[in-house]
Amino acid sequence: MDSASLKYAKQMDSKDVLHKYREEFYLLPQIYMDGNSLGLLSKRAEKTLLDSLQDWKELGIEGWTKGRQPWYYFSEKLGSLLAPLVGASAEEVMVTGSTTVNLHQLAATFYQPSGKKTKILADELTFPSDLYALQSQLSLKGFNPETHLVCVKSRDGRFLNEEDIIEAMTDDIALIVLPTILYRSGQILDMKRLTEEAHRRGILIGFDGCHSVGAIPHSFSDWDVDFAYWCNYKHLNGGPGSVGGLFVNKKHFGKKAGLAGWFGSRKDKQFDMEHTLTQAPDAGAYQIGTPHVLSIAPILGSLEMFNEAGIEAIRQKSLQLTQYLMELIDIELSDYHFYIGSPREDAQRGGHISLEHKEAARICKSLKEFGIVPDFRAPNIIRLAPVALYSTFEEVWKVVQILKDIMKEKHYEKFPNEREVVA
Ligand SMILES: *Cc1c(COP(=O)(O)O)cnc(C)c1O
Repeated sequence: MDSASLKYAKQMDSKDVLHKYREEFYLLPQIYMDGNSLGLLSKRAEKTLLDSLQDWKELGIEGWTKGRQPWYYFSEKLGSLLAPLVGASAEEVMVTGSTTVNLHQLAATFYQPSGKKTKILADELTFPSDLYALQSQLSLKGFNPETHLVCVKSRDGRFLNEEDIIEAMTDDIALIVLPTILYRSGQILDMKRLTEEAHRRGILIGFDGCHSVGAIPHSFSDWDVDFAYWCNYKHLNGGPGSVGGLFVNKKHFGKKAGLAGWFGSRKDKQFDMEHTLTQAPDAGAYQIGTPHVLSIAPILGSLEMFNEAGIEAIRQKSLQLTQYLMELIDIELSDYHFYIGSPREDAQRGGHISLEHKEAARICKSLKEFGIVPDFRAPNIIRLAPVALYSTFEEVWKVVQILKDIMKEKHYEKFPNEREVVA
């Protein structure tokens, strides 16, 4: 059947084994293509949030131990549910902090300059917050970020080449921090290979999983990654500002937390209130303060759904959706100077498509006017994320039809080509 036809899209939807999950979400009137920035609310996430609110209402302080999900063990509980999604054992994963705070914690813990090894290796395409955090960690240890933060260059402004990263693993590098998936192009880095190469040179390596957790399977333990951190509000649908996650390889258990706080205590010792910290024996040691219970609670319902659906099935459908989107763009938009800045190969492509156009900012505004929610990344990228649990092939088809109409009729020309305050 002609893949450009609506009939084909409908047929793909009728074969979709995950279709029932769509009904579990509060869908917007618009077609939502922005689940890689803020995932939608599901009924299960809403329920676990309301459960914790109800516990507060009915139990007050007793919610810490007697809540439906006792708040005192919430971070550990969620860590165990997240572990299968990142390929780790339960005690290696903790839901705590935020992406940037967790990077601060992990860099404070794992960046231990000594002798010749004093530099941190990152890349020029990484998310700016990560660079800011690494710069300040260098300053705190007395090094100049301008000389000591080494950023691998991209050859084309879209992708990183693993060869270039490996070449930059020189003997003055103490720590490497890289994204699992690049936030613009959606390229997946070869984490297994990079970890092997780093370790061969005596360098520790950690990954920012913001764009991969909930979108693709991982094997952090098997790959022997030293640490990782991510947010739970993008593909994991934990809600705006929901608490983040971290992974610490069990071979590092017992390593002193760079930023200590009482929630890093062994749980049974915490309320002894001693002035000397007895660290938790697992990834719990890298928590700092009291968990943000109301920003943690929705993650419980969301993770139950992910584990039930299975990350392999989610990845399978996500690949089909992004493949289909690229195919339709090739067929329908060839006259309008778009460029697909995402990897074509399944193994290298994450959960979103980066569509480049010099008028991208105002094309995005026009898409919103026509009922589609994309996002824009300066200077010229429209990111489109059809999400496995709630997007359909029919929606992908419609997005491309509407985009074609916007280009053909030049609807975008009535907007200025500038980004909004929040893009
Ligand atoms: C979204 C995102 C962040 C955001 O960090 P927060 O601390 O949650 O604000 C960081 N890194 C990457 C790669 C991201 O995509």
